[in-house]
Amino acid sequence: MLKPKGNKFVHDTGSLLAGTPSLLIGENYTTPLNLKEVRDKESKNFLSIYIEKLKVVEPEAKFLRIVKEKSEELGENLSDADVAVLALALQLRATLLSDDYGVLNVASELGIPWKTVRTKGISERRKWVWYCPNCGRTFERHLRECPACGSPLRRRSISFGGPRDR
Ligand SMILES: [Zn+2]
Repeated sequence: MLKPKGNKFVHDTGSLLAGTPSLLIGENYTTPLNLKEVRDKESKNFLSIYIEKLKVVEPEAKFLRIVKEKSEELGENLSDADVAVLALALQLRATLLSDDYGVLNVASELGIPWKTVRTKGISERRKWVWYCPNCGRTFERHLRECPACGSPLRRRSISFGGPRDR
């Protein structure tokens, strides 16, 4: 198998718990926060398989700031570990491995390439829309409340085409 040059992957906590770094050829990264979350969990067994080839990097402040601003703009409530993993993927221009729709939504908006881990066989791409449960209007962007009736908006994901559309 050929090893692609400069193939970088950043793993979120879910990806680490799933053992994904052991399956990928390339450079595998995560952040100290994500590694700590894995160590706090029961299933540390996978970690012993790939810990030696896992690079643990603290993302730079400017990338953390970019991610925080974008997630606030999108109305995504991300954990510190989520923000860190996105910032590192942005910093390293790496592919992000995550199954978290909130994380993947922010990744898409920032132009970070991503792959899912457990949701194998997913056949459609999805994006978020916000809708008003009161009057039914939908919005492409997060707003604090419905401009028409003032109700708090809710979020749902919609399909916008399968892999064949790419
Ligand atoms: Zn409304």
